[in-house]
Amino acid sequence: MPQLNEAAILEALKSVRDPDRGEDIVSLGMISGLVLKQGNVGFSIEIAPERASAMEPLRKEAERVVAALPGVLSVTAMLTSHSEGAPEPEMPRPAGRQAPQQKLMPGVKRIVAVASGKGGVGKSTTAVNLALALSAAGHSVGILDADIYGPSLPLMLGITERPTSPDGKVLDTMTAWGLKAMSIGFLVPADSPTIWRGPMVMGALEQLMRDVAWGELDIMIVDMPPGTGDVQLTMAQRVPLAGAVIVSTPQDLALIDARKGLNMFHKVNIPVLGMIENMSYFLCPHCGGRSDVFTHGGARRAAEAMGVDFLGELPLDMAIREGSDGGRPIVATEPGGPHAAAYRAIADAVWAKASGGSMKPAPGIVIQ
Ligand code: ADP
Repeated sequence: MPQLNEAAILEALKSVRDPDRGEDIVSLGMISGLVLKQGNVGFSIEIAPERASAMEPLRKEAERVVAALPGVLSVTAMLTSHSEGAPEPEMPRPAGRQAPQQKLMPGVKRIVAVASGKGGVGKSTTAVNLALALSAAGHSVGILDADIYGPSLPLMLGITERPTSPDGKVLDTMTAWGLKAMSIGFLVPADSPTIWRGPMVMGALEQLMRDVAWGELDIMIVDMPPGTGDVQLTMAQRVPLAGAVIVSTPQDLALIDARKGLNMFHKVNIPVLGMIENMSYFLCPHCGGRSDVFTHGGARRAAEAMGVDFLGELPLDMAIREGSDGGRPIVATEPGGPHAAAYRAIADAVWAKASGGSMKPAPGIVIQ
């Protein structure tokens, strides 16, 4: 059986032609960020943004030819583009060499992704309160909303103003509750339906990192979109993540999804700092009694089984929900309460783990 390696993948991709330019996508230098890890393959296909929908068949074809190689377990190809006028450090370059990439957010010392396998588990709520707890511990903290399709930060931080750009090139961050924040939701009105295509999402995400004055920060929390798609892969490849934190509810289904999230980070060599169980149990606002609505302790057991640290649990509580959806996050508004204490304990663990080693460089090509 021929060995599965980077060269074999590029060879297969040479059978895919760019219909407009007539040549194959490898010779045209369109392939970048090739990652091969235990049979899982990921790469980007660089295109001009206006060709996005026309290039979807090409993307599928590229996935198909790589998936046909013996030893390939999964393939994720994504269309990416650089915005006009931006430096294009990746192209053209000889096939098979890792491209030098512009360092994004150079003043940010640690970047931690808060992720979940599916939506609605309280990932954004956790990200915001974790960021606030880190800030309360005296660190300078930023929060980036990487959910381009469904940004939550404007609502959760109570920000209705738009960011400004003194020089017309770089956007200033917004500030709320002592955090530096940026979200596509600050720029695109919530009531205007925006149809995003894959490359536009990648472009927007990259701009939120590259064209925003993040300055010097001890730590940045990234509120990832739910699931395990292109955005996760882009983030994993483009910024040196110190690690990822997975949020899950105790139900089995959510945990299966959490496992997917966990495996995705393993595949791209990002350390998983641990799991947080959200909506772990219900605290009755009337009698103070506790009910294990979704059965309790699932995330802790799952974390143990998967060999990841369990970072802590948060109850399902009206005050957390009201604070979150009302733009008044509970760690900021009730710093002396039990929930703030729980978030602070998790934040301390995250800080210790994220500071444990030097930041590893964003993963490039991994040859098996
Ligand atoms: P996700 O980012 O995973 O989609 P959100 O953070 O948006 O989830 O939370 C989904 C809903 O659940 C929101 O209305 C939020 O206020 C609520 N919520 C999140 N965590 C809790 C909690 N611990 N207790 C009560 N409500 C919560």
